[in-house]
Amino acid sequence: MFSYRHAFHAGNHADVLKHTVLIATLQHLLHKDTALTVLDTHAGAGLYRLDGDYAATSAESADGIGRLVPPAAPATLAAALQAYVDMVRAFNQGPATRVYPGSPFIAQRLLREQDRLKLFELHPSDARALAGNVAQLEAGRQVAALAEDGFEGIKKFLPPPARRALVLCDPSYEIKSDYGRVLDLVQDGLKRFATGVYAVWYPIIPRPEAHDLPRRLKTMANKAGKPWLHATLTVKSSKLAPAASGENQRRPGLPASGMFLINPPYTLQAALRETLPQMAELLAQDRHATWTLESGGS
Ligand code: SAM
Repeated sequence: MFSYRHAFHAGNHADVLKHTVLIATLQHLLHKDTALTVLDTHAGAGLYRLDGDYAATSAESADGIGRLVPPAAPATLAAALQAYVDMVRAFNQGPATRVYPGSPFIAQRLLREQDRLKLFELHPSDARALAGNVAQLEAGRQVAALAEDGFEGIKKFLPPPARRALVLCDPSYEIKSDYGRVLDLVQDGLKRFATGVYAVWYPIIPRPEAHDLPRRLKTMANKAGKPWLHATLTVKSSKLAPAASGENQRRPGLPASGMFLINPPYTLQAALRETLPQMAELLAQDRHATWTLESGGS
């Protein structure tokens, strides 16, 4: 049913944006001693080899994390970007960056004993890989990897016992209905647990549903009287690449993506304002590279 495998995309520019935001958000939430539950609705395999077949085929990480680590790394990075690079480097022993942590492993690395991590992954191979990777952690009851539909599965965990949660919703949007299911998930989540932090990643592609998603999330947050933050990163034009003679025009790979947060940590906006310009500059693939940051709600 699914053909999307995150292994092809691990460490690309969209992961840089998503995981930088994830780390900055978690770092803030973990200042309070009260237990935090992290719900990762679309977890992927958890760990990826950047020198393996999948990543080597797509080579996407070279224009993502690859531009931020030695030998390409600039001398000074904005604090949130440095925290992201440090996190990825912590999974690698030598100078080369061969292992890339997905959202489950990034979150687990930051969590404390009292916190909980619930992971959902539906692809049979990725669910098996995730379960195997999680087993290696020997994290006991702290981490649960569930081979279930994340859109439905999180409902049973909201509200969480200590009433503190981050929901990361990061579907592949392989099927058009994912856009509507994201909106339903956030709407339902806010009903079950209005003070949760909801973080949605989405692709910025020429498709009406992708264009509508942040607009509808804004309306939803405003109606619920909740603060929101919306960050986007564009690395290249979404226009068709000029064809070489005799070839058809080709769509470039993913040109841009966004993170939409409801109830974001109050520190996140300033952190991203400092970080996004540098991210756009370092990850630019053409002169259309840019970033945006907007906020609203009470
Ligand atoms: N969050 C991961 C990270 O940042 O490392 C990447 C996740 S990837 C973009 C999306 C994943 O969702 C894929 O591994 C796909 O197999 C899985 N998936 C697709 N539909 C799902 C569903 N309804 N419930 C749970 N997982 C699903």
